[in-house]
Amino acid sequence: MIVFNTIKNLQATLTKDREKGKIIGFVPTMGALHAGHLTLARHSLATCQRTVFMIFVNPKQFCSDEDFSSYPRSLVKDVALLAKVGVDYCFAPSVEEIWSEGHETFVDMDQLSRVLLGKQRPGHFRGVATILAKTFNIIGANKAFFGEKDFQQLIIVRRMVKDLAFPVEIVGVPTCRDPDGVASSSRNLLLTAEDRKAAVVIPQSWRAVERLYHAGERSSKRLLEVARKVLEKEKRGKIEIIDLRNVETFANVEEAIKKPTVLILAVRFGKIQLIDQHILGSNASCIYTTE
Ligand code: AMP
Repeated sequence: MIVFNTIKNLQATLTKDREKGKIIGFVPTMGALHAGHLTLARHSLATCQRTVFMIFVNPKQFCSDEDFSSYPRSLVKDVALLAKVGVDYCFAPSVEEIWSEGHETFVDMDQLSRVLLGKQRPGHFRGVATILAKTFNIIGANKAFFGEKDFQQLIIVRRMVKDLAFPVEIVGVPTCRDPDGVASSSRNLLLTAEDRKAAVVIPQSWRAVERLYHAGERSSKRLLEVARKVLEKEKRGKIEIIDLRNVETFANVEEAIKKPTVLILAVRFGKIQLIDQHILGSNASCIYTTE
């Protein structure tokens, strides 16, 4: 695996790959890698001939300098993991390499970046959309891979690619989960032992919703009530988001569910917010780690 720190060197190599007709896959991340990130890499490796895996903690998507500086970083370990999985290129630029002084141009959205998580973290999705637009231009990938776990982000990327005609295919990858069903996340390691145990209430909640949906329940009010009831059993967690949204447009759902729908959950344990999602009717769409 080759590690690139500069846009120029990465582009020189990718130009040669493109001349040879190689299909290029792109996996953007902020590092501190876990099984979920490696699942994205494996999806890219399975369908592309070159995989560019980016590790870049993007200051423009953090709402405070403190969150940015305290974000976990483990580049040496991450690079070893990527080499083991068989990734071709790791792109790990510095902040200065990506954001030159005087940067003024941003990608923003009218609605999608301002609801749910966007409402809680003003400016977050603007930073996400802008770094993705920039790296789509730098890399010129054929496909880019994103986790369904961050469902709002996935919807935002799809929308941006459609609206601005980026020539890249966006691939959504099912959520990778710890053996107890909690979605793999670098944030899990920041939880206290009690909170990590309590977090199991999140998959319990969407599973209860799924059982009811499977049995034929289509009232969004009733399904949300069940999700809330399960989450409220665990007093350590504070419910921050519990919502049903259209899978394609992210619009609010009608009282009677008729179209493909996703349940979005965000629960805070102490200082740590965990997020999860479940597409109603898609019982088999998770990958469980064996560790
Ligand atoms: P992050 O480094 O947190 O910005 O995440 C980088 C990418 O990994 C995003 O596309 C996330 O949706 C994806 N991701 C994070 N956790 C998981 C998971 N448990 N399963 C699948 N993809 C994930």
